[in-house]
Amino acid sequence: MNIYDSNLMASFLEEDGYIEAQSIEEADVIIVNTCAVREHAVNRVLSRIDSLKGLKKKYPHIRIGVTGCVPQHLKGTLLEKKPFIDFVLGPDNLKRITSSVKDKAGVFVEFTDTALYSEVSPARGKFPEAFVSVMRGCNNFCSYCVVPYTRGKEKSRSIENIVHEVSKLSKRGYKRVILLGQNVNNYNDRGNGLPYLLSIIAKIKSIERIGFLTSHPAYFPLVVIDVMKDEPKIEKSLHLPLQSGSSRILKLMKRNYTKDEYIKIVDKIRDTIEDVTLSTDIVVGFPDEKEKDFTDTINMVKRIGFDSAYMFKYSPRKSTLANTFVDTVKEETKKKRLNELIRVQSEITRNKSESYKGKVLDVLITGENEKNLLESNGITLYNKRVVVKEKLRKGAIVKVRVEEVKGWTPIGVPLKEAIGSKQSGESSHRLLS
Ligand code: SAH
Ligand code: SF4
Repeated sequence: MNIYDSNLMASFLEEDGYIEAQSIEEADVIIVNTCAVREHAVNRVLSRIDSLKGLKKKYPHIRIGVTGCVPQHLKGTLLEKKPFIDFVLGPDNLKRITSSVKDKAGVFVEFTDTALYSEVSPARGKFPEAFVSVMRGCNNFCSYCVVPYTRGKEKSRSIENIVHEVSKLSKRGYKRVILLGQNVNNYNDRGNGLPYLLSIIAKIKSIERIGFLTSHPAYFPLVVIDVMKDEPKIEKSLHLPLQSGSSRILKLMKRNYTKDEYIKIVDKIRDTIEDVTLSTDIVVGFPDEKEKDFTDTINMVKRIGFDSAYMFKYSPRKSTLANTFVDTVKEETKKKRLNELIRVQSEITRNKSESYKGKVLDVLITGENEKNLLESNGITLYNKRVVVKEKLRKGAIVKVRVEEVKGWTPIGVPLKEAIGSKQSGESSHRLLS
């Protein structure tokens, strides 16, 4: 979502005649777009901001802005503490970027119901993949999470507007879009929900892959599984944050589902979509997480067998309900649990990756492999990143036979024939070699 917001601001500035600087020393305007979801992220941002102080002293004309969730959370105190910053904008005020970089310095952090940025669609991304925000904000108030306080109330973009943006991407040859929202299952444009949105986006010519995240298990319409199965362009992969494998902790987290309800969704999706891949988010060390709760999480991770997981240590956040709970779990225990969870999940991810050996996959080529420029990176319909041992055109979809697995990455060779070959401009699927 932050990458999307950065693209949004870049689009606003480009429309106003600005061009992207090639290095930070060359820039007249420096914007730090921020995330406040964990303390660690905030600390990194604050030290990044401090590193700009010297530059401002050397070149007093440059303007420095801090945008996104950190200033929204800290409000005016950020400017008081760091007077070399010229302006701060919360996530609902990004449109002010063009005036703020000129003269309207200050603090803009009020929420509005209308900041959907529908009038300017960024239609940018790392070709041939692009994020497309379909909604903003969150109404869920999970007890540990700061997002509802920093991004405000949930609001959906209109289907027409989203289609307009995706069509623009498609005309530029983009092949993969990832629809974004804090909880895409609540997408609602005049009564039309996520399944309808997905079916409409799937009709857009030359978009070959459609992903969506994040799905909240408590609000997961099972009909989405049927749409995923029936529509060939929709990725057979689901990001379904579990957060904890203990129903007691899930209740304290205010997640509104139990461990068994989560398992039911997973069973249904696995019964319906062959080889579907699953990823998740997990938080360990939540206040009052007992050894038994943690064991429940480990058992659940083993039971489900996620293809990948983002795993975090609980980080207390100001304004949230959990911040009022007594945090009984020692830092040392949190670290130990996180390490243990990472160890268990890494083993599962490695085994899953190994199982790709010998398989033939349809791979969308996403770019060159930075480690070996004669190879390409790609992604499957099942959201698995792979390396292809040949330099191929970005945006091509090729059949690849996996020969080996290094770390968690399947590595393969292309079969002779490319699939789905349309050949014009950026959208060409032609193999380079
Ligand atoms: N809307 C998404 C998540 C957005 S935040 C969802 O509901 O799944 C991304 C992830 O950060 C969360 O899924 C959670 O695992 C983690 N997270 C959020 N707040 C946190 C906190 N206070 N401490 C540690 N991890 C946190
Ligand atoms: Fe945070 Fe919960 Fe909203 Fe996700 S659904 S952004 S975890 S409050």
